Amino acid sequence: MVTTGTTVTDVAVFNGTDLLDGRYNVSIGESTITAISPADTAPPPGPTVDGAGATLLPGLLDAHVHFSGPDELSTLARFGVTTALDMGTWPPTLVATLRTAGQGTDIRSSGAPLAGVGGPHSRIPGFPAENLVATPEQARRCVAQQAAEGVDYSKLVLERPGAGGPPAWTPRPLRVEAAHAAGLRVVAHASHTGAVALGLQAGVDVLTHAPLDAVLHEDLVRAITDTELIVVPTLIMMRGSAHNLGNPALSYDHARNTVTALHRAGATIIAGTDANNAPGVPAAVPHGSSLHDELDLLVEAGLSPRQALRSATSVPATAFALHDRGRIRPGLRADLLLVTGDPVSDVSAARQIRSVWTAGRAVDVVAQNDRTDTDGANSHSHRSRSDHVAHRCPAEESTRGSWMQRISTSKTSPGPAGAFSNRSTGSAAIRTILPRSFPPARRGP
Ligand SMILES: [Zn+2]
Repeated sequence: MVTTGTTVTDVAVFNGTDLLDGRYNVSIGESTITAISPADTAPPPGPTVDGAGATLLPGLLDAHVHFSGPDELSTLARFGVTTALDMGTWPPTLVATLRTAGQGTDIRSSGAPLAGVGGPHSRIPGFPAENLVATPEQARRCVAQQAAEGVDYSKLVLERPGAGGPPAWTPRPLRVEAAHAAGLRVVAHASHTGAVALGLQAGVDVLTHAPLDAVLHEDLVRAITDTELIVVPTLIMMRGSAHNLGNPALSYDHARNTVTALHRAGATIIAGTDANNAPGVPAAVPHGSSLHDELDLLVEAGLSPRQALRSATSVPATAFALHDRGRIRPGLRADLLLVTGDPVSDVSAARQIRSVWTAGRAVDVVAQNDRTDTDGANSHSHRSRSDHVAHRCPAEESTRGSWMQRISTSKTSPGPAGAFSNRSTGSAAIRTILPRSFPPARRGP
């Protein structure tokens, strides 16, 4: 549904960087923001949405997700996540379907990641064999193929040295030089401190995950800030993984304290969740709600609410050259999130979702709370899924066998389709909206 001419009136504005002084009328055109004017001026003709008591934010970006189907786009949008950066989805036909879905969240994608032939990722069922590379020539061929398919950046899985990933000498010739030659940024999975060091040596652009094995050494922290490497720590995934793995050597405290150290040192930190719905892998993180959990965890690690909100709006937009979004400014995409209260003071207010627009389209955000109101299924399923561990992109150093063992013994819960079912938009009216917000993920069972 197109909402040409809608104006959100008398609203506080977090523009992606700061909370503006005063209150504003923000007008939404066919796909872009058309005007921002003081609230005491008359809004242009057309429908209005009352923004009293609310804050308008840029739509949120989740800088680390995986997809199993197009329904996840609608789920993300209902939680205000209007852009998602896919960090490993295959086959290419599924990615193409997601790109052209025409509704819900807008994506960018790495396609399938590249990995070494001997690490845990190589044993993920269905992992594309052509993405397991052992020679520079294989890597060049793979990157060229992916560039031709239209990937937006490259994803490289780095294991700790000796764990079967690409050997220490390989990342640069295997991946980084080939990807940069094709004009692609390189995002490296690095969930172990040894893998972080490897990523630095290799010259990657973005590190994702925060290690569980130890707090990052101050030399590595300094190297990350000196080289302006971007970090997407996926704390919600690391917390779930640490909890479910039950290995005393792997602690969520290490991940959180690493983020604290990076933040204090001035590193660029971006919000990402590792949301996925893949069976049989390290931690199942639900799409959409998990980004709000990640914002909570970033604040707990030392970012201010304003810095956390920047990490999910203007900062990833700049880092991934998405210059048409991530901020509220005339001419930019009308990807917008209207919430009750002031998330710049208390980031949990971002959960109090009233309305969401993706490129000017109003999202039907009612569906996510329908079941909460009737039988509590929403909050129950949401919580149990976030405690449950399984993932396509293993955040631990164990073997496939032990993931499968853990998964087979863990309690199961219905997938997000049950809790946040996709509901078609029946009316052109803007829906106003959630009777109550959704709860944070539970820490443990
Ligand atoms: Zn991942």
